[in-house]
Amino acid sequence: MSLPSKKAIQVDENITDYQYKMLNLEMVLRYDDTKCLECGFCHRVCPVTTQIVDGKEVPLKRTAIGTPEQMNIKSDKKTVVDLDKCIWCGSCTWICPGYTLELFIDGQKKLLLVENGSLPEFEEEIRELEDGRKVRKVVEGSIKITCNETDEKIIENFVDECAVGAMSRKEKDIEVDINKCILCFKCTEASKNYENISVEVHRDRFKQVKGEPGSVWNGIMLRVLGKEGKIKGIISRTQNKLADAVMRLLGREFIEE
Ligand code: SF4
Ligand code: SF4
Repeated sequence: MSLPSKKAIQVDENITDYQYKMLNLEMVLRYDDTKCLECGFCHRVCPVTTQIVDGKEVPLKRTAIGTPEQMNIKSDKKTVVDLDKCIWCGSCTWICPGYTLELFIDGQKKLLLVENGSLPEFEEEIRELEDGRKVRKVVEGSIKITCNETDEKIIENFVDECAVGAMSRKEKDIEVDINKCILCFKCTEASKNYENISVEVHRDRFKQVKGEPGSVWNGIMLRVLGKEGKIKGIISRTQNKLADAVMRLLGREFIEE
């Protein structure tokens, strides 16, 4: 019996194929560094969140994909995959707002979790960035940036953290264009290095999806939207406005990893 082989193949300077091979089966998770927005959705959506240690299931701090810093892997790429943990499920390719990841099974682009109904399909609304990269929004919600910084250069640096051009400096304040903002994890993470700037992102719900989600969906909702978003998701399938009002009355609980 042949053992599975797992390897990372550098296709060119920017594209990495994370390959799993056993008998006739070949699965490839393809990553293109030029497209990565460092949004952080892949890290949150990856279902590899536990590990069996001494027969017990223990939570993992790192999933199978994330920034080299998150994954404790040395690399010049924006995002890396841990071959020991990855199960080639393709959840990261399903959510990626920048079309950075693709999953191929025996040479064909496939998302079995969508095909078997575990995950629903997004209604696509693609926007082209100035540099030609394509981006889509996968969640809806709101963002609030509080800027007490007085140094305009520092504010400019913070504004540049956004890979989709959603932030702009207005004198000593920061504005966000909610139509461009993909409500990602990037500026929240970045704000940890800026003493006088703070960010609150509320991911209220996934963008319109086609089809009825299966049980995988619940775990994903919790990890991406947080408790508040998950509650809203459940209440709001047909009653989004009512759910918004209920959550406002209850007071928002801000949950960020
Ligand atoms: S393919 Fe699945 S297990 Fe692998 S990094 Fe992506 S989400 Fe995680
Ligand atoms: S402004 Fe929006 S799109 Fe830009 S980094 Fe922040 S959350 Fe992401």
